[in-house]
Order: sequence, then C-alpha cells, then structure tokens
Amino acid sequence: MIEIIFATNNLNKLIEVQAQLPKAIKLVSLKDIGCKQDLPETQTTLIGNAIQKADYIKSKYNLDCFADDTGLEVKVLNGAPGVHSARYAGPEKTAENNILKLIDALEHQDNRKAQFRTVIALHYKGELLTFEGICKGEIARQVSGSGGFGYDAIFKPDNQQKTFAELSLEEKNKISHRGIAVAKLIKFFYEKFEIN
Ligand code: IMP
Repeated sequence: MIEIIFATNNLNKLIEVQAQLPKAIKLVSLKDIGCKQDLPETQTTLIGNAIQKADYIKSKYNLDCFADDTGLEVKVLNGAPGVHSARYAGPEKTAENNILKLIDALEHQDNRKAQFRTVIALHYKGELLTFEGICKGEIARQVSGSGGFGYDAIFKPDNQQKTFAELSLEEKNKISHRGIAVAKLIKFFYEKFEIN
C-alpha cells in the first residue's frame, strides 16, 4: 500500500483523483497532515506552479506528495486564461464569474477551440517527476450540467455531445486532462514499485 499526499485544498480534485486510483494507492489530504494554509502558486507556468506547490509541502513537512496545476487554454485568446484560469475574473476565484467572463470574451467567436492542460509534480523517494495531461474540446455558448467544478459546465470535450458537468465522475476521469495525468502517475507507481 502506498500512501501519498495530494497537495490541494480543492475537495473536488481530491474526490476525482481518489476515485481513479487503485486500492493500493491511498490519498492523504492536507487536512490529514494539519496543513491549513493556501499553497503558493506564483509562477508563470503550470509546471512551475505544480512544482512550487509540491516543493512547499516537501520542504515544510519533509513528506512525499504530489500537486497539480491546471489551465484552460483557449485558441483565439492565444492560450488565455491558461495559468491565470483561477483568477480570470478577479482575485475572488469565483467559478461563476470566470465562466461568465469567458462566455462574454467569446461572444462573437465561431472558433471555440480550447484545451484543458494539467501538470502533476510528484516528490517520491528523492525524485521529482512531472506528468502532463491534455484534453481538447470547445467552449460552449451557455452553461450545461451541474456536476464537476470550475469551468466544467462550459467545456465540451472532443467527441462528446455533453459538457464535463454533464458527465459522471468516471466518464470525466477517462478522458480529462487530470485523468490522463493521473493515469501516468499510476503507471509510474506500478512500474517503479510493482504495486498490485
Ligand atoms: P488550479 O489548478 O486549481 O489552479 O485551477 C485553475 C482553474 O481551473 C480554477 O478556476 C479551477 O476551478 C479550474 N479547473 C481546474 N481543474 C478543472 C477541471 O477539471 N474542470 C474545470 N475547471 C477546472
């Protein structure tokens, strides 16, 4: 059994990732280790922020962990909001306001292409590794669905008629940016440490 800290204060991410992991890998939350702070994410790239968050826990608690950072990259906005996705509509980090701002920014755009990108940084037994996952799709003109979180209600992955918010957790995990990055993380644990 591997116990590993997922350095996030986002309960939705914790639930999503735990649902995807095999029984042999158990997630430990920041709450479990008594960490109540916001994690620093002041870098200008997803990989920089993912490493910064993982480094923070590693150096403060001397514990192995992984962290993720995710951005929604919209083609006609030259990749924005990207690394600034959480604060797109302001420092309050409100999903509703972020969604409204994006719908507004794309009001007259026929090209709705976008992708979610996640980078996971993992500290494990003296190694620092990163894993990336990308999910391509498009931004819907209106919100649909009540599942998920963040921008899920306006993101339609390629080859789907539904938004992420209309998919089950299992369906989202199979195709999502984070699901793909987590699958690589699981593969690493299987190959390197021969869990079963
Ligand atoms: P962060 O990785 O927590 O910094 O997330 C950046 C922004 O993207 C936040 O506004 C999140 O709510 C949003 N976000 C992260 N992952 C997802 C996802 O899987 N679906 C929809 N929005 C997401």
